[in-house]
Amino acid sequence: MSETVIATRKLEKKYGERTVVRGLDLHVRPGRAYGLLGPNGAGKTTTLRLITGLIAPTAGTVSVFGEQLTPTNADRLRERIGVQTDTELYATLTARENLEVWGGFYGLRRSELRRRADEVLEMMSLSDRASSAVGSFSKGMRQKLAVGRALLPRPHLLFLDEPTAGLDPEATEDLIADLTTLMRDTELTVVICTHQLAGLDALCSDVGVLVGGALVAQGDIDELIARRWPTTTVRIDVAGDPAVAATLVPGAALTPTGIAVQAASDSDTERAIAALAAAGVRIHAAVPQRPTVQDLYFATVDDARRSSIDSGKAVA
Ligand code: ATP
Repeated sequence: MSETVIATRKLEKKYGERTVVRGLDLHVRPGRAYGLLGPNGAGKTTTLRLITGLIAPTAGTVSVFGEQLTPTNADRLRERIGVQTDTELYATLTARENLEVWGGFYGLRRSELRRRADEVLEMMSLSDRASSAVGSFSKGMRQKLAVGRALLPRPHLLFLDEPTAGLDPEATEDLIADLTTLMRDTELTVVICTHQLAGLDALCSDVGVLVGGALVAQGDIDELIARRWPTTTVRIDVAGDPAVAATLVPGAALTPTGIAVQAASDSDTERAIAALAAAGVRIHAAVPQRPTVQDLYFATVDDARRSSIDSGKAVA
């Protein structure tokens, strides 16, 4: 397999005079889960439609599985891509029947339909509800079935568009856990378009942040966070007077329960703890306040908006 499953080059889409996707160089590596993030109207869905060949770019190119997408090969490449669509499920049919009907649309052989439907139900932890009518399903269960539907043709690349939209925290966690297991057990590459960031750290290894149709950050989440915040704030809670503790650690800031230090590595934290211990200060806890993908997202979007205000351009 090539080094990238998806590579776009200077990808652009205009509707009339309006540029909604601008100069996109997007790279998705095999076996990774890539979160394509951005505010409403940033261009996520349009990008997804460009990559799957459903709409044509105004300029630039898209390569999928190492092949440049053209009107001639789009259908063939799409056979290896699963897309979770918001097309309704059939409420009066059971979960298994829904999958069998869709499997037929995907061209699965009759003899294979039942087996594949059962495999997918198992993957999405829905086996025990295989024979229940979908009309009786909760929103979370329906969402899982919609993801399962996209998995029927055994795609190598899976696109999920807002898979957790409208789900409560428990259903979100449940879906993310199933997707995490799925990714661990298969070679699947996943692209998730979303602005719901809860749980994304668990699932996604990479992100791209779209603002106003442009990619303003892209890469491995841990690397992006480390580049943006080279030090981690470590909160050290102590017994006794925090002001005394603060005098013992150079650069420490006071907190209501102790001190906070900036650590570039674990040894900085160990040095601070050793200095406190040597002076007889009792330590209750040392907690690193690691930035999350949510912090990264907000900081990146803020930067992009600020720089567009500075340059007089409006962005979504
Ligand atoms: P959301 O998070 O709200 O779903 P998004 O990031 O997926 O947003 P898109 O749906 O890609 O954003 O839309 C990006 C911009 O392109 C929007 O301003 C939208 O109005 C515009 N747009 C999308 N499709 C069309 C179309 N067919 N014709 C004209 N404008 C369009």
